Amino acid sequence: MDQRIIKTNAKEIFTKTNLPGADYVINQYVGCGHSCSYCYARFMARWKGYGNWGTWVEAKMNAPELVKNRRVNGRVFMSSVSDAYQPVEKALELTREILKNLDKGINLSILTKSDLVLRDIDLLKQFKNVEVGFTINSFEGEEKKLFEPGSPTNNKRVDAMKILKANGIKVFAFVSPIIPGLIDIEEIIRQTNKIADYYWFEMINLRGAGKEFSEILRQKYPESYEIVHDKQLFADYVDELRKTIKNSGVKTKGIEMH
Ligand code: SF4
Repeated sequence: MDQRIIKTNAKEIFTKTNLPGADYVINQYVGCGHSCSYCYARFMARWKGYGNWGTWVEAKMNAPELVKNRRVNGRVFMSSVSDAYQPVEKALELTREILKNLDKGINLSILTKSDLVLRDIDLLKQFKNVEVGFTINSFEGEEKKLFEPGSPTNNKRVDAMKILKANGIKVFAFVSPIIPGLIDIEEIIRQTNKIADYYWFEMINLRGAGKEFSEILRQKYPESYEIVHDKQLFADYVDELRKTIKNSGVKTKGIEMH
């Protein structure tokens, strides 16, 4: 997909956040070529006015300079309104330059859907406290096209997770968005439990995903739509999910609910 790149400069690159498990976020990009239809950051498209989500990316070209000689206390998360390894990163290398310049004692957590992160293993290895998470959700075929048209496949993400792990880098699986009937949690755990150091699970946040995504779900997956809209059915689903996770014995930070 053609993507418009808007090059800007920022005043600050560490932003305070209320996200679970993080104190600061780094968003060297705003916007994302992975173009997930459920993306919770889609609201930025309205705010920025550059066009539909996925068609543009704002790149903060001075981000690598802004992290130089900076120390922040607490956990730093990359990124909250973009993916640090989205396609444009291949050419711009902002993430790579940031990793070069960051204080290697920083407590850094990166979440991505792309195996492009493998390019930076040499730098990741220099950090004392770094982890890389991969969004794993088993969407394939029609669902992959509808929900995550621009990102590498789940299999590529699992393979990348394996390679990072083999290189001594801590990895986690972010199982998200959990949509009843469309995600096989047991299969995901089977595929990743020898690799992932721990798991996050997250139920779909329909409000964050927006009306268009709700409409896709209603039209294409009415049974899933019904479960997420019916209090009792939803509670039963989450109960079952908790049991499945508990029985699997994997280490988890729990199920993120919204
Ligand atoms: S990869 Fe993340 S930031 Fe990018 S579109 Fe998908 S959900 Fe949004």
